[in-house]
Amino acid sequence: MGIATEPIGSVPRPTPLLEAMRSRAAGRISEEQFRKAEEAALQDTIARFEKTGSPVISDGEQTKPSFATYPLLGLNLAPDGVVIPFADGHTRQLPKLAAGPFRYGVHAVQFLKAAQRFAHCPVKQAVISASALSLLYPQEGLPGYSRQQFVTDLVNEARRDIRECLEAGAACVQIDFTEGRLALKLDPSGKLLESFVELNNQVLDGFGAADRAKIGVHTCPGGDQDSTHSADVDYVGLLPHLFRLKVGRFYLQLASEPDREHVLRAVRPLLPAGATLFVGVTDPISRRIETPEEVRDRVFEAAEFIPLAQLGTTDDCGFSPFADDTSTSRDTAFAKIQSRVAGTRLASETLGR
Ligand SMILES: [Zn+2]
Repeated sequence: MGIATEPIGSVPRPTPLLEAMRSRAAGRISEEQFRKAEEAALQDTIARFEKTGSPVISDGEQTKPSFATYPLLGLNLAPDGVVIPFADGHTRQLPKLAAGPFRYGVHAVQFLKAAQRFAHCPVKQAVISASALSLLYPQEGLPGYSRQQFVTDLVNEARRDIRECLEAGAACVQIDFTEGRLALKLDPSGKLLESFVELNNQVLDGFGAADRAKIGVHTCPGGDQDSTHSADVDYVGLLPHLFRLKVGRFYLQLASEPDREHVLRAVRPLLPAGATLFVGVTDPISRRIETPEEVRDRVFEAAEFIPLAQLGTTDDCGFSPFADDTSTSRDTAFAKIQSRVAGTRLASETLGR
């Protein structure tokens, strides 16, 4: 059956869709014209994804505004929320909730079902973590809507987001937890990270073992405009917390790590029995396209530390987590995905799996 290989999620949007997004924001095209542009991008993305030979695909997040903000459509928000600084000096600012109760404007199953109409192979679905969305609640509180009530609503909504995707036949559901390593940067004591893990586990407590085997978590140091927000935080500090999450699949950025052995050595004793570790073998931040042989060698390297039955491969991160991020071209993204698939196959053949 071979070593499992999966994407993380996003693929750069094609130019006509980006243009349609701008035209729509300026009120220059109809909703129907915009939907047509979305549909065309989705269909093309799925066709190109399937051509790479990837046994599991995603919708490329073509119609998400970003990996983190898709649930916020139509919500009552103020613009001045938490600011996330990136290493190259640019920032992304989250909005904050202006009134309760908190309900998702969009649930991820909508993207999954749209993709399944075109796909011939299994489709996975990424969802945003409850911990990331917990940052929406304002520091100063909200009149008539306590933080506690917000957290209860958030846990219910995050659970529903996952459950609906599983029920709709997602190959698996991946929780994007890119704020894990960032949490250690913001609070080196580890308390913030611990509270994130607790919150996400509250969501996961709503699922049994069979469901959890299909639920995974993705961690990375952030990836936007070819820059990161927390690559300077030692991975090893994150790992003991990460592996406490009650999921069966872990998607670990690794290709871009300066010392991969250091990370793999730390993972080995922590990886829960029965869980699958998908190691990143391609780097979306770098424009250079990895060769299949390079990918194969990265699998060999990981196989020295991780039992083969628990090893899979992935891309380090999405290729365009925010819709307006065009730092990587579509051609480059698909070429890297193709190398991941081919290199993983080469490794499978040699390792006899
Ligand atoms: Zn990522």
